[in-house]
Amino acid sequence: MQCPKDRKTTLMDGTLMGQLPVLCCPDCQGAWLPPQSYGEWQEHQPSVDDPSELIDRVLETDATPSPTDGIASLCPACKCYLARVKVSTKTPFYLERCPNCKGIWCDRGEWEVLEKTGLHRIIDRLFSTEWQALVRERELFAQERRATIEKLGPELAARIFELAEVLAQHPNGDFGVAYLMRRFDQ
Ligand SMILES: [Zn+2]
Ligand SMILES: [Zn+2]
Repeated sequence: MQCPKDRKTTLMDGTLMGQLPVLCCPDCQGAWLPPQSYGEWQEHQPSVDDPSELIDRVLETDATPSPTDGIASLCPACKCYLARVKVSTKTPFYLERCPNCKGIWCDRGEWEVLEKTGLHRIIDRLFSTEWQALVRERELFAQERRATIEKLGPELAARIFELAEVLAQHPNGDFGVAYLMRRFDQ
């Protein structure tokens, strides 16, 4: 099997984390995760309880995209175009997956970022529209927080966030929100 990026280097047997058998490119250091070996490994991983928390972690993570990240490529197994999905680290990068055989390609360094953030357990989910919608929601939420910190300063912003949390958990929290809105309507 050839590297999907340069289409001439032969992929070699390797493992990720010493337990997931993959095919590695000795040239660009990318890794091909055969669908069966990823599926079997994934079955033994703990499930993800709070995807929002995971996405927030991703948004805060630094990543340096590999030079091969921008190259469109064909599946090394069945030659379909690989589908790309954005991973929204501070500098985003793209993961690739074959829509046909479901094999996954990670450019150099991408698996390490996935592992650090916990996304490595759910790579298949990242390609779903539900996941992408949730990412956009968390991105907006993070933007709003940043804007609030910018306008109010970190101390007051922290008090606002805390108050929002308290109100959200209080059974009559909406009364508090209504009070604040009325207070500033005048
Ligand atoms: Zn390569
Ligand atoms: Zn394929």
